[in-house]
This record gives sequence, C-alpha cells and structure tokens, in this order.
Amino acid sequence: MYGLLLFTVSAMAQSRATCPNCNGEGKFTEECITCHGKGYVPCMFCDYTGKRTVTCSTCSGSGQQSKTVKETCTTCKGNGRVNRVQYKPCHCRGGKRPTTDRNGNTVYITCSHCKGLGKLPEYVTETCPSCSGSRYVGSHTEYSTCSSCSGNGQKTTTCNYCSGNGAMACKRCTGYGYVTKNCESCHGRGYVYARD
Ligand SMILES: [Zn+2]
Ligand SMILES: [Zn+2]
Ligand SMILES: [Zn+2]
Ligand SMILES: [Zn+2]
Ligand SMILES: [Zn+2]
Ligand SMILES: [Zn+2]
Repeated sequence: MYGLLLFTVSAMAQSRATCPNCNGEGKFTEECITCHGKGYVPCMFCDYTGKRTVTCSTCSGSGQQSKTVKETCTTCKGNGRVNRVQYKPCHCRGGKRPTTDRNGNTVYITCSHCKGLGKLPEYVTETCPSCSGSRYVGSHTEYSTCSSCSGNGQKTTTCNYCSGNGAMACKRCTGYGYVTKNCESCHGRGYVYARD
C-alpha cells in the first residue's frame, strides 16, 4: 500500500540528469572577448606608448614666451630721485674776504670758505623730472623661445591615465582575463530534467 504510493510519485516526477552542455558545472569560464585573455587593454589615450603629446601650457602652443621688460630711467639710473646742485651766496664779498696785514692795512684775500667763488654749492635731492619718480620710463615686450617646450609648442609627457604603463586593466574581466557565464541550457543549475 505504502510502497505503491511512492512508486506512483516517482513515476510522475522528472528525474534529474547532469547538464550535457556544461558537464554539470552550471557555468562556463570563457576567455574575455575584450582583452582576449590578457587581462589588460591598450590605454585609450596613448595606445601602449605610455606617453602623450600635449600642448605646452607655458606658451599655449605658440612656442614663444613673451615678457614685459620695463625700461629704466637713464636720468636717475632707476633711483627715482636725482641730486641737483644749487648755490647759495657765501658770506664773503665776491670771493674776497677783508683781513688786516702785519702793517695794519686792510687787504682782501681769497675766501677760503668758497675758494673765491663767492657762492657755496648745496646739494638737493629731488624727484626725477624724467620719470616723475617712478624709476621707469615705459616698457616693451620681448619674445624668446619657450624654454619649457624648446619652441615646439608641444610636449611629450607620461600618460597620466595609465601612469605611463601604456595599458590598463580590462574592465570587463577586472584584469582576470576570463569571465564566467551561467550555462543557458540549465540556467546555472548544472542539471536538467529528463523524463524516464
Ligand atoms: Zn548546463
Ligand atoms: Zn578582459
Ligand atoms: Zn612652450
Ligand atoms: Zn628718473
Ligand atoms: Zn666766500
Ligand atoms: Zn596611457
């Protein structure tokens, strides 16, 4: 009675069989189609070279550098101030000074103070009239070959996307080179149902 019931149930059920497509694994390990099993792909920015040619940032690709050169005032030699001599009268009379000689006569001798000039030099410092004290009288632009790129306008630098390696880890297989796919025949179960 009891055995008959069990027999009936098993006869109605489907029996399991190893999936012939995946040999019961339920999945396949396939070579990654993106990197062909290498695990890396060429850097899309430098294609294995590890280097990139970029526009020189110093000269913006022109190959020349310009600089503004200020022209120093020649009048004051860049001091902004000049010394000027002005004269003030000496206390003598036209460079002569009266004195009394041995005999008691008044004689006029050359004034030692002004050395006979009758006036004394006085140095005054004043703002340079040529540059109004700014020390420069203008500026001009000078051009020179860009030192950063030797005038090429472009520079070769290490590719920063791949750190100079020229290649990057394959994103599809995360560098493993192989990807695992579920078996479509058994939906990853590893077995299929078969009727007796
Ligand atoms: Zn399978
Ligand atoms: Zn890959
Ligand atoms: Zn440059
Ligand atoms: Zn000046
Ligand atoms: Zn004098
Ligand atoms: Zn690169």
